[in-house]
Amino acid sequence: MHPDLEKLISLHDLDVMIKDLGRADILQEEVRLGLSPDAAVGELKTIREQLSSSIGKRWLALYGQICVRYGNAVVPVVMQRCTGCLTRLPTAVYSADDRNEQVRTCPTCGRIIYWAD
Ligand SMILES: [Zn+2]
Repeated sequence: MHPDLEKLISLHDLDVMIKDLGRADILQEEVRLGLSPDAAVGELKTIREQLSSSIGKRWLALYGQICVRYGNAVVPVVMQRCTGCLTRLPTAVYSADDRNEQVRTCPTCGRIIYWAD
């Protein structure tokens, strides 16, 4: 897998976790478990900073642009479809030999796509 693609997937996971910690139901669960939500968010943000500083500027900028438009900027390809917009990908994209060896975007919605298999 392309190193930046792997990091972009992790960055997206972190952003989802940070966002989830702001949700009331998850917040209550954290409190019930005796965890400090602020500390958890702070820790995740530190990890996010370290991770994002190691991602190529070009891809980080692209990720930021997609995040402005969509909640999910990095999505897996399932059944030859982009799971962001559900459009079937062109044959040249989904049958490529180097699937995850490049950072690719969905030709329809522009989200960063990857193959999880
Ligand atoms: Zn798409």
